[in-house]
Amino acid sequence: MSGLAIWAGPKLVEAASTTSSPISGLTERSLAFYNLHTGESLKTVYWQAGDYLRSSLADINRVLRDHRTGEKHDIDPRLLDLLCDLRLRLDTKESLQIISGYRSPKTNALLHSHSNGVAERSLHIDGKAVDIRVPGRSLSLLWKTALSIKGGGVGYYPASDFVHVDTGRVRRW
Ligand SMILES: [Zn+2]
Repeated sequence: MSGLAIWAGPKLVEAASTTSSPISGLTERSLAFYNLHTGESLKTVYWQAGDYLRSSLADINRVLRDHRTGEKHDIDPRLLDLLCDLRLRLDTKESLQIISGYRSPKTNALLHSHSNGVAERSLHIDGKAVDIRVPGRSLSLLWKTALSIKGGGVGYYPASDFVHVDTGRVRRW
């Protein structure tokens, strides 16, 4: 009886968090970024054998910083898992090209005042959103594939040639 109770918990957690995600079978999770504004690139293993790697997360925070002000912010690890999942589903080893990662409140307010496409209370301010494109994969495929993960919000911006992905509520535009 007690044995059953001990084993039931972890199984349920496992089922809820990793069902149907291709990253569930990995022993390490990696990402590759190319920041179009700064020209910086980063290839890194950010998760290994159950743990997020602190120094890799710091490297990711740097490459995804607000390039206008230089400010950094912790990037949501769930967003990294979502991006890792996305690269696997797209079957690509290409770097994700970063149009926008973290935005300081000041930068977001500036962009909001110049564009209808920038929300006043953007998840970029919380390190929970990125705007990306992927070499060799069409924008519509990127959008549809991101939608299929159901990991948060996904926005399609063909005029600017990027897809927005965040870890907020599941929604689409
Ligand atoms: Zn965005």
